[in-house]
Amino acid sequence: MRGKLVAGNWKMNGSLESIRGLMDGIKQGIGSVQGAAVAVCPPAIYIPEVARLIEGTDIRLGGQNVCDEDEGAYTGEISASMLKEFGCAYAIVGHSERRSLYGESDALVAKRFAAARRCGLIPILCVGELLEEREQGITEQVVGRQLDAVLELEGIAAFADAVVAYEPVWAIGTGKTATPEQAQDVHAFIRAKLAAVDRGIAENLIIQYGGSVKGANAAELFSQPDIDGGLIGGASLKADEFLAICQAAG
Ligand code: PEP
Repeated sequence: MRGKLVAGNWKMNGSLESIRGLMDGIKQGIGSVQGAAVAVCPPAIYIPEVARLIEGTDIRLGGQNVCDEDEGAYTGEISASMLKEFGCAYAIVGHSERRSLYGESDALVAKRFAAARRCGLIPILCVGELLEEREQGITEQVVGRQLDAVLELEGIAAFADAVVAYEPVWAIGTGKTATPEQAQDVHAFIRAKLAAVDRGIAENLIIQYGGSVKGANAAELFSQPDIDGGLIGGASLKADEFLAICQAAG
């Protein structure tokens, strides 16, 4: 049976001082979170510090991206084995900011997904449509295409050790959350698409929702049958708000 997973994506925010304060707050309240796994994804340079701060807790660690190659002349990139060496369990791949601001294609995202798995990291594969794509009624086509890139490269078996995060781009950082029904519809589509290839893998797959989740709307979103927690941006930078979301998932 799949569980619930809440992961905080800190993006390019924080300082040594602020992440220590944030982690203090999360650690103080984490005991009140039951029935949901919790992860944080700091900027890469802070991963060793956060790894130290979460020692002895159940909080998990993830990278915000991972190189598609294992090592070599790839300036500015971070490999899966480096993330693993510093205690990461997860790597986000295909976040919409990477796709839109840095031109990461479906094919490159699929290769990053594969690199994470080669090293035993669990990729958190972000998929989601732009506002104009939703308005054109092609949400399923877009999300289907993003999933197909990974299915074609890695096959359905890869989804046994992966997480999918449905993040409608128009809801990320905008304060506009998808309604629970809108989100559930796409989550159900994702699960059904994968179930058509392998029902067991699809049933066990964690599908997170991401896009302006906060303490006040998390419970309703997470109560939908195919929403298994969240990938949280802005609200993961405030310990109380993040903990409220984690509690709602539990
Ligand atoms: C994200 O960046 O993955 C995200 C969901 O951001 P926010 O929660 O701020 O919308």
